[in-house]
Amino acid sequence: MGSLTESAVDNNHGDLLDSYRTWLEEHPSALDSFEAMIAVAEGKKLVLFMDYDGTLSPIVDDPDKAFISDTMRASVREVGNLFPTAIVSGRCIDKVKGFVKLDNIVYAGSHGMDISTPTGSLKYEDEGHQIKSVDEQGTKVVKFQPAQEFLPTVKEIIQVLDQKIKTFEGATVEDNRFCVSVHYRHVNEKKADTFKEMVHSTMKAYPNFRINGGKMVLEIKPSINWNKGRALEYLLDTFGFTGSKDVLPFYIGDDKTDEDAFEVIQGLGRGFPIIVSSVPRDTKASYSLRDTDEVMDFMISETSTKASAAKPTRVSPQESKAHGTGDGRSWKQRQKHRSSATKVSLRRTPREEREKEKLVKKSYKERINELKDEIRNNKVEKRRGKSERRGRR
Ligand SMILES: [Mg+2]
Repeated sequence: MGSLTESAVDNNHGDLLDSYRTWLEEHPSALDSFEAMIAVAEGKKLVLFMDYDGTLSPIVDDPDKAFISDTMRASVREVGNLFPTAIVSGRCIDKVKGFVKLDNIVYAGSHGMDISTPTGSLKYEDEGHQIKSVDEQGTKVVKFQPAQEFLPTVKEIIQVLDQKIKTFEGATVEDNRFCVSVHYRHVNEKKADTFKEMVHSTMKAYPNFRINGGKMVLEIKPSINWNKGRALEYLLDTFGFTGSKDVLPFYIGDDKTDEDAFEVIQGLGRGFPIIVSSVPRDTKASYSLRDTDEVMDFMISETSTKASAAKPTRVSPQESKAHGTGDGRSWKQRQKHRSSATKVSLRRTPREEREKEKLVKKSYKERINELKDEIRNNKVEKRRGKSERRGRR
């Protein structure tokens, strides 16, 4: 993807669409591959993991307004009734729950550093990061928070950055509890580089934290060996699937941080890592979906009668209730009450198609910004590695 240039984005949209088509051959559409996936899924226990922003809700200008549509919510509810389902987001867990408003799925916030499940995990109990708690609805939960000790420093970083961004109109600092998102989507394009330099130089005072670039955002996280991939392993364990040869995880996400989860699935040797992207990207995902609309189409396919082929070996209502991912109703009972949302026609109008084209073009520009951030981060990491090595000598 390194050959993409900004002028190419502006001048030769057709070529870029061609490169997307070539990329699609290596990362085929999960919708087109659905029948094949279901054939593999027969007799297996399906588990679904999804990112939130850019996967279930479109990327919007104001991160506080990244609402999920009613139809998407209905689709997630449907899959949550059929399979153990988790949303794994970089946002703080309460914010994602507030957006999604479903209680038949589990949530992991702060890039997997804040996980709430009904049972917790025996396997991870000795690590000292699990605490019994009560959620906002008064339900007993077990929280897994491996970055708990960093909380005071995260708060300090937010205070420091809140002060420093004041000279950059449009910049915002989002408190994601165990990590921080610094958004620069609305910062004057000419000042964006200076802004990112400012964040990087501020963070030099916090060597136990790292910065990753995202979509017009810098993600600041504690440097611990925990990420969305480890969160996926933890969640599989709480669902009772550790070591299970029958389990088939799907993970759908659009972020760089989702790559850790894709890698874990590749390591398992079974399951479907699916990237959401309308532009070519370097990824460990095997499949792709173009946008949030296609994510919804895919979920609707999963809940359709075709997917019912895997029914007999799915988690039983009792198991599902124990995992907190079901309501104890039988599969048949749930089918009876399937919402009309799954019957909605999703064909785009010509106008919507034109809007999509515009979005693709915008995505390219944002991808170029991401690439610039990646290069910068690699340089910073290299410099840090060098100075750490010097320090040890
Ligand atoms: Mg995302």
